[in-house]
Amino acid sequence: MVGGHLDSWDLGTGAIDDASGVAITTAAAKRIMDAGKPLRTIRVVWFGAEEVGLFGGFDYQKKHGSEPHYAIAESDFGADRIWKVDSKLGKDREAEGKALQLALSPLGIVPGSLDKADGSDIEPLLNAGMPGVGLSQDGTHYFDLHHTPDDTLDKIDPEALRQNVAAYTAMLATLSGGIEPEPKRGKRR
Ligand SMILES: [Zn+2]
Repeated sequence: MVGGHLDSWDLGTGAIDDASGVAITTAAAKRIMDAGKPLRTIRVVWFGAEEVGLFGGFDYQKKHGSEPHYAIAESDFGADRIWKVDSKLGKDREAEGKALQLALSPLGIVPGSLDKADGSDIEPLLNAGMPGVGLSQDGTHYFDLHHTPDDTLDKIDPEALRQNVAAYTAMLATLSGGIEPEPKRGKRR
């Protein structure tokens, strides 16, 4: 499961917090869809009411927290480049965490902890022990814009945004267990 939150703070339009997170994770899932059929289901969640108290995250936990999730991740720290990958998939799945580190290294992403994951809306699920991944974005300028009227689309660097989508796509491709190309749909003879 990947996602971000739909609501934003009063003053800005919410480009970095958190429209970019919604866009990055959804675009990555779309890329996987376009490539074929993943062996595991990819669920994209656009959480609501995060800013006023994580209500969407808690509601998701209430409704879906008992369903098995292979891994969860949330993008909610703007759209600057991802520089580090953390994961907390469990002791017996550290090899997968390392495979994920390898898959992301061509994008300039360094390996982080194998015992850590974060995300605002998914925090209740992580705290309950669900396996998770954390892709850390460069936050150098995040708080220049966060919750201000300057949180607008023109502040987002398209090149950094593309790197984010590429990273989430590689992460989903790795953890969804592989992609089966769809058979060509054409006229049958
Ligand atoms: Zn946010």
